[in-house]
Amino acid sequence: MYFYQDKFMPKEDVHISPDDRGYYFGDGIYEVIRIYKGQLFERQRHLTRLAQSAAEIRISLPYTIEQINAILDKLIAESNIQSGNLYMQITRGEGPRSHAFIPNTEAVMLAYCTEMVRPLEQLQNGIAVITIDDTRWLHCNVKALNLIPNVLAKQSAFEQGAKEAILHRDGVITEASIANFMVIKNGILFTHPANNLILHGVTRAVVLDLAAQANIPYEEKAIRLEDLSDIDEAFITSTNAEITPVIQIDGILVGQGTPGPVTRKLQQLYEEYAQLDI
Ligand SMILES: *Cc1c(COP(=O)(O)O)cnc(C)c1O
Repeated sequence: MYFYQDKFMPKEDVHISPDDRGYYFGDGIYEVIRIYKGQLFERQRHLTRLAQSAAEIRISLPYTIEQINAILDKLIAESNIQSGNLYMQITRGEGPRSHAFIPNTEAVMLAYCTEMVRPLEQLQNGIAVITIDDTRWLHCNVKALNLIPNVLAKQSAFEQGAKEAILHRDGVITEASIANFMVIKNGILFTHPANNLILHGVTRAVVLDLAAQANIPYEEKAIRLEDLSDIDEAFITSTNAEITPVIQIDGILVGQGTPGPVTRKLQQLYEEYAQLDI
C-alpha cells in the first residue's frame, strides 16, 4: 500500500502530476527509516530530521508529526513487512513550472514500505570503495531529493568495481555518497563533524552513542585524503548499510584488508541495541 496526497492506495493508483516540483526541480526532502521486526527503528530521530530538513528549505509539512506517525503506523501494519524500510518524501507541491514558490500550494507526501533483508554478506566481509570529489551544494545536512552528485558518485564507484564512493572537499573527507564515513586510528574513532557539509545520519548518531557507552573514544574531526593511507579500520553507516566495514580504498587494503576489531565490536553493539537476531 502507498500513501500519496492524503490517501492510501495501491501503487498502480498513484498518479504523480508532471507539475510536481519534486519532478521539475527535485524540490523536496525525504527519509528512509528501517523496519526491524515490523517496527520503525529510531522513528523519532528520523521525524525530527524530516522536520529540520523541511524547515531548512522552507517547506511547511502538510501534516502534524502525530498525523505522520499515524500514516506510517498504518503503512507498516498493512504492509506486514518484518524486515525492510519505509521511504517517505515531501515535495513543495504542484504548479506550473516556476522557480519561485507558488503561493497557496500544499506540500505533497508520498510514502511506502519495501521488504529488504539485511546485507549480511557485506556486513560480514566488508566492501571496497573509491574516493571522489564532493561536488554537492553547501547544505548537505538537508536530506533533499536532488541527488545528482550522489548518483554520479555511486555510479563511478560501481563502474570501478567498488560499492561506495567516499567524498572529499578540498582534500577533506566528508562522507560517502549515501552513508556517513568513519575511521579508526590508534583506537580512536574519527568522523566528520555534523555541520552543513554532511548529512547528519541517524545511524551515525546511534554509532556515536554506542561508542560512548562502550568507552570507545571518538572525535568529530574530519580526516584528510592523505590520512587514509595510515588508518587501522574504516566503515560506513546508514539506515540500510548499518555498519558496513570498508576493507579497501582505491584498491589499497585498509589494515589487513579484513573488518577490524573496533568495527566488529560496534556491529555487535548495534545488533544488540536494535535487538537483531539474524
Ligand atoms: C541518508 C544519508 C546518510 C545516512 O543517514 P541515515 O540516517 O543513517 O540513514 C548519509 N549520507 C547521506 C548523503 C544520506 O543521504
